[in-house]
Amino acid sequence: MGPGPSSVNPRVLKAMTLPILGHLDPQFFKVMDEVCEMLREVLHTQNHITVPLSSTGTGAMEAACANMLERGDKMIVCRNGFFGDRLGDIAERCGAETFILDFVWGEPVDLQVLSDALDQYGPVKAVGVVHAETSTGVLTPMPDIVELAHRHGALVIADAVTSLGGHDVRMDDWDIDVCYSATQKCLGAPPGLAPISFGPRAMEVINNRPSKVQSFYFNLKGLESYWNQTRAYHHTSPISMTYALRESLRMMMEEGIDNRIRRHARVAGALRAGLEAMGIDLMAPEGYRINPLTTALIPEGIEDTAVRGRLLSDFDIEIGGGLGQVRGKAWRIGLMGESAKESNVFALLSALEQILPDFGYEVASGASLSAAQRALVSYDDGGVLP
Ligand SMILES: *Cc1c(COP(=O)(O)O)cnc(C)c1O
Repeated sequence: MGPGPSSVNPRVLKAMTLPILGHLDPQFFKVMDEVCEMLREVLHTQNHITVPLSSTGTGAMEAACANMLERGDKMIVCRNGFFGDRLGDIAERCGAETFILDFVWGEPVDLQVLSDALDQYGPVKAVGVVHAETSTGVLTPMPDIVELAHRHGALVIADAVTSLGGHDVRMDDWDIDVCYSATQKCLGAPPGLAPISFGPRAMEVINNRPSKVQSFYFNLKGLESYWNQTRAYHHTSPISMTYALRESLRMMMEEGIDNRIRRHARVAGALRAGLEAMGIDLMAPEGYRINPLTTALIPEGIEDTAVRGRLLSDFDIEIGGGLGQVRGKAWRIGLMGESAKESNVFALLSALEQILPDFGYEVASGASLSAAQRALVSYDDGGVLP
């Protein structure tokens, strides 16, 4: 129940034990095609270049920046958490003149601030935004940001590492230019692949850039000739991980993409209700809370690592600590992919009810569990959470 990797269904793990095919075996090409087709469905896109990169999410951040940016290009990065910070760092390393817009950690990106920056620094090549900030548990709604960036002639690079599978991500409807994710969060596969998709504007940039992409491994033109019908060797595909991703995507198709998102919303609502019933405040403001990860403010006087240690040793439950600015101040509780289930919610709440009094924090026994239960019933009755 940390911020990822999430638990993986045995079906997915079993898929990884299939015999290794060559990365140029026609049978493997079929696997690749199936994966890309399902990724397009999950991202709601027609983009031809929608492929899993051989890396974790951070590699996709590198790939997005390396392919879109040339030395001297301007990029604006919205930083309202740890992963926005990382995106800015990567953009800078790619040689872009990077403008970091700071927002309070725990708040979404403010459109007016971005609008002013686009006016002030323009013309800007790209704007980088994290859809679901896993360090703070905050969702930044995408459509208005994309519209604003496009009005200023800037492309949008969107980090959907944590949101994909746990929230609606509509690449084409929202007109996102580059969008990437990772397998180990709500997609329900082990860590190791990073789906990425490039829209028409992004492809135009890539096809017309005068300078070489400085990364060989993540150079999209090289990757494209492996993933398209040319099937030219670029690097050896992580075969077993591709099987795993295919199986996890099949499971998502069987469940239904929207049902998967609803499952995440449902259990997240129960967890929030349970925590609040224990008097624990949530970090993210209402309306901007992400489903896959809940940030709970650690009550005054409670020692972060001691509680997490007890959860792990006595209850086999792992939750995450705070990252960057919120280290020691917040717990990050993941309900992602296979881990997004109500039994996890009840197990954690019950464990906290037992542990917290030992640290002098009194809780009314059972109160969090019944609050969570009420939230589930209320969600089932009409999709509204109390
Ligand atoms: C987890 C995460 C990443 C980084 O992914 P890795 O798989 O750890 O490389 C990037 N962005 C966000 C929002 C994340 O949650």
